[in-house]
Amino acid sequence: PHQIEIRNLHASVGDLPILKGINLIIPRGELHAVMGPNGNGKSTLAKVIVGDPEYTVTEGEVLVDGVSILEMEPDERARLGVFLAFQYPVEIPGVTIANFLRLAMQARKAEGEEVSFTEFYGKLLAALKTLEWDESIVERYLNAGFSGGEKKRNEILQMLMLDPTYIIMDETDSGLDVDALKIVARGVNSMRGPGLGGLIITHYQRLLDYIVPDKVHIIVDGKVVQSGGPELAKKLDVEGYDWVKELATA
Ligand code: ADP
Ligand code: MG
Ligand code: MG
Repeated sequence: PHQIEIRNLHASVGDLPILKGINLIIPRGELHAVMGPNGNGKSTLAKVIVGDPEYTVTEGEVLVDGVSILEMEPDERARLGVFLAFQYPVEIPGVTIANFLRLAMQARKAEGEEVSFTEFYGKLLAALKTLEWDESIVERYLNAGFSGGEKKRNEILQMLMLDPTYIIMDETDSGLDVDALKIVARGVNSMRGPGLGGLIITHYQRLLDYIVPDKVHIIVDGKVVQSGGPELAKKLDVEGYDWVKELATA
């Protein structure tokens, strides 16, 4: 099956349980939004999927295309095509965007397989065009002195270059103005199709005006308390989160 399947996933930080039995199936070809009040486990879910060592899985499974990934190192998961766009992008001193992209593309290749300059440069030009970004940007150091909008645009640039099979975007919309939001959405929407699945994690409905999700799931207290279509996100926008918090205790 071409899908991410999250089965009864429980995860803790130290002794503190955060995820308490998450069940989700995200087929390739669909983008699902994950919403919910702050502090209820959305980012933890993203980090557990990509293998952040800070979190311990205490129960359950995560299967990518039928293969269990929980014992895999983060780079093995990345080679399966799972890509996480971070909520707070890192700065790496002395590494230009171009270097970083080249290394990241190389890391996804099988051993002995080289990323050719033609492949790299062709893809780079296409991605920069989608993002309305000048070519000179790639000689700048990764995230150093970048504005919030530039950091996000750089995340999407990485995503376009890496051709992921599954994307996980965590609060990619936080702090973006509408123009930057539209560019991010254009990048994501340009990748949509039968070959791409993923989770768009967001507290607000705003991003979902531009990236319309196939399904919406609400996480409260480490569990999915409600799933539905895009209209669910609109309802949250109007009514807030109080009613879903009650679902969690029901
Ligand atoms: P969300 O993304 O929904 O806002 P998080 O997954 O970031 O929520 O956090 C869920 C809960 O787990 C919060 O109470 C948070 O404080 C706690 N938590 C998450 N990561 C850690 C950590 N590394 N150490 C301690 N507590 C954590
Ligand atoms: Mg979060
Ligand atoms: Mg571990």
